[in-house]
Amino acid sequence: MSQKVRVRFAPSPTGNMHIGGLRTALFNWLFARHASGTFLIRIEDTDKERSEEKYVQALLDALAWVGIESDEKIIFQSQRQDAYHAVLNKLVTEKKAYRCFCTAEDLEKRIRATGNTEEHYGYDGFCRDLPINHDEQRFFGVRFRIPSELASIEVTDLIRGTVIFERNQLDDFIIFRSDGTPMYNFAVVVDDHYSAITHIIRGEEHLSNTPKQILLYQACGFSVPHFAHIPMILAPDGSKLSKRHGATDVLAYKKQGYLPDALINYIVRLGWSNGDQEIFTKNQMIAQFTLEGVGKKAAIFDVQKLDWMNGVYIREKNAEHLYDLIQQTEMATIFMLQSSGYTKQQLLDAIRLYQPRVKNLVELVHEIMKLWQEPTEYNQEDVKKWITPESAVLFTKACQLLEGCEPFDLSTVTLILKSLCEQESVKFPTLAQPIRIALTGGTTSPGVFEMLVLLGKEKSVMRLKALQVQINF
Ligand code: GLU
Repeated sequence: MSQKVRVRFAPSPTGNMHIGGLRTALFNWLFARHASGTFLIRIEDTDKERSEEKYVQALLDALAWVGIESDEKIIFQSQRQDAYHAVLNKLVTEKKAYRCFCTAEDLEKRIRATGNTEEHYGYDGFCRDLPINHDEQRFFGVRFRIPSELASIEVTDLIRGTVIFERNQLDDFIIFRSDGTPMYNFAVVVDDHYSAITHIIRGEEHLSNTPKQILLYQACGFSVPHFAHIPMILAPDGSKLSKRHGATDVLAYKKQGYLPDALINYIVRLGWSNGDQEIFTKNQMIAQFTLEGVGKKAAIFDVQKLDWMNGVYIREKNAEHLYDLIQQTEMATIFMLQSSGYTKQQLLDAIRLYQPRVKNLVELVHEIMKLWQEPTEYNQEDVKKWITPESAVLFTKACQLLEGCEPFDLSTVTLILKSLCEQESVKFPTLAQPIRIALTGGTTSPGVFEMLVLLGKEKSVMRLKALQVQINF
């Protein structure tokens, strides 16, 4: 019978959640959900100098924002010292690990003395066979003893296939520092065993750690889990992803008005595919996600595609939901302040009006706030093209009709303006474009009727008249 899947995401709280980390978390989470398994979060905070509490919160906030949470109590490595010591003592007693007193300088001096620096890789084994002195006063680290018969070690990776590491690529690596804290490779093995992790899915940068971890599993008598190393995420020019290619920090996307579902959908496609499908609901991702769908090639982070996808999601959402999501962006306060003269219903209408036209919620807010502002200048090219003697007459008539229009709702306003154009036998843009210019300062805008109704009679007529006064037509 196959084991029940248990996976984990194990971030180090030394910085905010990045796109790459989120993808690792997502792949683990989807893998678990797909197999009705368990997804855990473990905080790897053994590096006291670099770990910070605020980053723990930031990592969990980013995960919670996209709907990823641990199925069991979150494990903190800093609280597991006893477990590490117990396993360490066992390894030392069994001579599978040994105390090492060498400093980096000692080692360097010895290697230099051989005159053959190129042939030396890593530790030279100086402390390997020192007898254990229990009264020892000096500080020491603990090294793992690579089994002497080892010729090579094979990593079977569910994405990359078999990867062989030769003996000379490995040295007796440190598993415990002299300050009494465990090294990453050791703590990870003890914890993954303790949590009964069945599949370790993580970034490719950890592949070179895997042979060491396998040796540790074997030495500890633990069963070895399955491994899957996910290819890197690169920038479009093939370089390492950095700020200059767009934000790498997940919560920055929240502030900038990206939708969590859109971001997740974008991220799942960084290295995973299922045919040509681009848009996936969460349930579809869960149903379809397998490691066979993860490619071997590096994924390319393309912010334009993310923008496109975010636009798709924005168009699908209802206005109420977008209104709530706007409150999570960096524009929330200013938006609410600037919209104080409008009812919630008007804000929802405004959202509906602009949502087909934007890539993110910050842009949506900007567009709406622009509409709230009376134009202070008019686009001269638009004025030249659309303000003609013919349109001027029509425009004046439209002004009068709108002033008397009751009720000032979509169907009445539409009827009045369309009939006017029919009566005068002019095409609708002859009137609509000057109205657009009056309302927004230019001709790139959503529907004229909708804007008029949204602004209301008073504001609309005021803007129409202001255009007449300012450009004298
Ligand atoms: N703490 C490691 C990291 O953040 C986790 C590596 C692992 O998943 O084993 O990269």
